[in-house]
Amino acid sequence: MSAPQPLIFRKGLDMKEAVAGELAAAYDSALVDRVRESDFQFTSGRLIVHLAREFGFCYGVDRAVDYAYQARRRFPGRNVFLTGEIIHNPYVNDRLRSEGIRFLTDPGENADRLGNDDVVILPAFGVTVREMARLSNQGCTLVDTTCGSVLNVWKNVVRYAQDGYTAIIHGKVKHEETRATASQALKYPQGRYLVVLDRVEAAIVCDYIRHDGDPAALLERFAGAFSPGFDPDVDLQRVGCANQTTMLMTESLEIGEMFRAAMRDRYGEEALASRFRAFDTICSATQERQDAVIALLEHQTPDLMLVIGGYNSSNTCNLARICAAKVRTYHIADPGCLLSGDEIRHRPVGAPSTTSGLEETSRGWLPPTGTLVVGLTAGASTPNNIVGEVIRKLEGFCADTQKVKS
Ligand code: SF4
Repeated sequence: MSAPQPLIFRKGLDMKEAVAGELAAAYDSALVDRVRESDFQFTSGRLIVHLAREFGFCYGVDRAVDYAYQARRRFPGRNVFLTGEIIHNPYVNDRLRSEGIRFLTDPGENADRLGNDDVVILPAFGVTVREMARLSNQGCTLVDTTCGSVLNVWKNVVRYAQDGYTAIIHGKVKHEETRATASQALKYPQGRYLVVLDRVEAAIVCDYIRHDGDPAALLERFAGAFSPGFDPDVDLQRVGCANQTTMLMTESLEIGEMFRAAMRDRYGEEALASRFRAFDTICSATQERQDAVIALLEHQTPDLMLVIGGYNSSNTCNLARICAAKVRTYHIADPGCLLSGDEIRHRPVGAPSTTSGLEETSRGWLPPTGTLVVGLTAGASTPNNIVGEVIRKLEGFCADTQKVKS
């Protein structure tokens, strides 16, 4: 008897209107709407907040969360699972748990036990080819929320593999999206990939392309970041660049140019067309949020920036990096991090985003008197209600210090 075919929903579950009210109640903020309408500025007493013009939930996250709520409604009485975090925001993930959605990564859950009656939601950053095949074989009903921008990267990586190019992926090797993207290269027997984190790692590989080197040393340096059977002497002869969609756009573009130059140096200009490929695969939402903080910092001079988002959210960490290069910046997960007008809990900017739990507390973060100008932005997985609560808390701290003064 053949295995039951999985039912895969990629285009919503016809319950959009039914969940619209629930979504608005859980994630919207009337205050943030008002700030938007007031030219992205909020003023109260000595506090002035400038909100970036693009911030918070992106189209991919919006859709993923919407599908999760729809799935819960569409399959009452059935177990609905997520393969792991739907997006990198603890508040949103906890809300989904409270809706009765179970996380396969939570203690006590076991993906081996899934079967025909179970519904499994795939997150916005996708799952690996192997995981997808396994869930399909188990006969689960799959609700696929993989973002279209991620699918676009996969399309390019598959094409590289088909045509014999090694995918050089600018990304974080432990990030779910990068793992899923890399797995696409393995759809073809000749498919290869190598993940580079940043310019430093890209420079090491480019140096190898130009001058050769010790393959064992290169493999040791990039342990865990390349496909099975990767041979630097063979697999770096034809390369195609791709990236995790949430990386720093300027860095991704620079890395692409570094590889182009290395291939040109090694094989000559004429050979470039047959040895090097690149596609801009940063998603537009990531780019718009990065552009918006750059514009904010060009037009305003805040005393400090607050960047709100999950500590394992790659795009939030990159927004914080951009801001920290210009002004004192705190990456906070939620309003609970604002302990008082004196103390703030935050993630040190530049710490690896895949290391969870790294947080420090700083004192004296808010000047106690005088006009206070705060720049504010939020990563693509941060809902508006969290942004609104941060503004309210700031307002409260500034009102307190005003009272003390008077
Ligand atoms: S950050 Fe970009 S790729 Fe990721 S879910 Fe949002 S729109 Fe999609």
